[in-house]
Amino acid sequence: MSPAEAKKRIESLSSELKQHNYNYYVLAMPTISDFDFDKKLEELNALEKQFPEFTDPDSPTQRVGGDITKEFVTVKHRWPMLSLGNTYNEQELLDFDQRIRKSIGDNFEYVCELKFDGLSISLTYAGGQLLRAVTRGDGIQGDDVTTNVRTINTIPKRLHPGNYPDEFEIRGEVFMHLKAFERLNAERIENGEVTYANPRNFASGTLKMQDSAEVARRPLDCFLYFLYTEKQLFKTHWESLQAVKAWGFHTNDHSKLCSSIEDVFKFINYWDKKRFDLSYDIDGIVIKVNSYAQQQELGFTAKSPRWAIAYKYKAEQVQTQLLRVTYQVGRTGAVTPVANLKPVLLAGTTVKRATLHNADEIEKRLKLHENDWVYVEKGGEIIPKIISVNLEKRDPSATPVHYITHCPVCNTLLERKEGEAAFYCPNDEGCAPQIVGKMQHFIGRKAMNIDGLGDETIEALYQKGLIRTISDIYDLHLHSQALKQLERFGEKSINNMLDGIERSKQMPFEKVLFGLGIRYVGETVARKLAVHFKTIDNLASATFDELITAEEIGERIALSIMEYFSSQNHKYEIEKLKAQGLQFVTEEKELKLDSDKLNGQSFIISGVFEKFSRDELKDLIEKNGGKIVSSISAKLNFLVAGDNMGPAKLEKAQKLNVPIISDEELLGMIK
Ligand code: AMP
Ligand code: ZN
Repeated sequence: MSPAEAKKRIESLSSELKQHNYNYYVLAMPTISDFDFDKKLEELNALEKQFPEFTDPDSPTQRVGGDITKEFVTVKHRWPMLSLGNTYNEQELLDFDQRIRKSIGDNFEYVCELKFDGLSISLTYAGGQLLRAVTRGDGIQGDDVTTNVRTINTIPKRLHPGNYPDEFEIRGEVFMHLKAFERLNAERIENGEVTYANPRNFASGTLKMQDSAEVARRPLDCFLYFLYTEKQLFKTHWESLQAVKAWGFHTNDHSKLCSSIEDVFKFINYWDKKRFDLSYDIDGIVIKVNSYAQQQELGFTAKSPRWAIAYKYKAEQVQTQLLRVTYQVGRTGAVTPVANLKPVLLAGTTVKRATLHNADEIEKRLKLHENDWVYVEKGGEIIPKIISVNLEKRDPSATPVHYITHCPVCNTLLERKEGEAAFYCPNDEGCAPQIVGKMQHFIGRKAMNIDGLGDETIEALYQKGLIRTISDIYDLHLHSQALKQLERFGEKSINNMLDGIERSKQMPFEKVLFGLGIRYVGETVARKLAVHFKTIDNLASATFDELITAEEIGERIALSIMEYFSSQNHKYEIEKLKAQGLQFVTEEKELKLDSDKLNGQSFIISGVFEKFSRDELKDLIEKNGGKIVSSISAKLNFLVAGDNMGPAKLEKAQKLNVPIISDEELLGMIK
């Protein structure tokens, strides 16, 4: 390669890799596989070695990529957060082993760990309490995401007693379990939101949210794998892992001490198959030299430690051809594109369809053309995804696939909401799948669960022009003649259905509220709202500030609720449903007391608790005869304090000499 060609190639690789770093770290939407990224990085690295005169100090080979966003306070890392050297094959791993032997001799051990596919986090503890949590950022400085990290249950806010120093740092990986990922993605489909492509994106998107209430709704987990202390407490990494576990940290039980590279290969091969049985995604294995003294001897390169390396697994991929792209309109009007593929066998199942998520995926990331050959990969998810297009097989005359501009059902011009990736059909009162979908959601098992009425019947009743809104369902008994004309619908089924509809009027308010299908108001949120606001009238008239004081209700949900109740049609529909006898008030359950141990005592609950939600503690107090009051006064008997309570409250309570107790002490009073 001539110097001029090399210069050009270096520049183009640099700018491409910078964009990928940005996609990965900032947008949390990578558009290239790790494997391809690493290959390009390697090529760039080799060229820069050969032509050092063209190396840009800001080259992607010189830094670890950045995920710093302006919404968070930036914090400099005390010890830089480096990345790890990567390899995909056994030879390179053998080379790594050889380099180590040359440098420190043959007397050493490795620790093999799973490489969790999430995002790294650095936690600082002071006096045994969580002080700060910071993302990796560019390796030198990252975002302070402490408030969000406090919502992660497995990260201890307070440590067990132990021999840890007054201040230290510990690092690990924040991730989301596959089950939670699937459940939340399914919820997002139900709520008409765009889905996340994989658990890692979900986890990183979550940790970067401004709305901690929303973060708390999304269960994250964290494995810790590096301890950093000013003075060396332990001789080996392995010892430190055992110790931090005893202090209360979540460590991974599959880590293994290996005395030879052969043992390391055994570990790698074992997990190559077994990784699919784990409840979370891993993308490889991390191999670390165990002894700290030897680690020190080996030292670091500019980017990564010489005493550790990541061996990455290649995901199973196959090639197949795109037949056509179809579109589904959901209950909220969100239009989701689906790739229909020539059936192909992948990881034991036949794949015919892949999700395309949204318009950007088709037009910007994949730049999909008709009849393209695509690589399909199966991650932890059930629905496979298209990784990339095989450009060599593209027919030169093929035309690009464009995301549709109009609703495939009602032909209305589609709209995109600011900041959202999905397009919506705005014709919510005239677009059949939306109208039918809303009624199907209402009668569904998790909502009103109406006996004798299913999705197909709703469809048929809609086709016959008998129902268009939820309240029409409660007028069906007025149409007995028309009902009899429905095909395959005997008198008995009709009566069953009408009975079921009548009985559903007794369903509690929270179910009705969920059934209304307000965007972002899922099952749990509906329950919280019903408990907090008690009646639909209170909810409908609540201000933004009132809404966000309710547990788990953040800005996004609050705005959606306000938008819903600003519609005349929605108000009219609710009045009609009220007149028909549905429940719009939370029944005050007759308080059956468990004990009267807290009789006459008043309580305030503040902060967050590891084992209980605030509502649960409130319940517990009331069930034992105690009273919850709203403001701190000298008359208050107890302040139950969790983590992160407001300093003003704490100060006031201390001034007035109100006893401050923990949740455990409260339990002690009841037992
Ligand atoms: P890479 O980003 O490919 O350079 O890999 C390095 C990253 O792997 C680290 O920054 C961590 O976020 C992550 N990682 C996952 N599991 C481990 C582990 N057991 N030990 C060290 N790093 C890990
Ligand atoms: Zn439509």
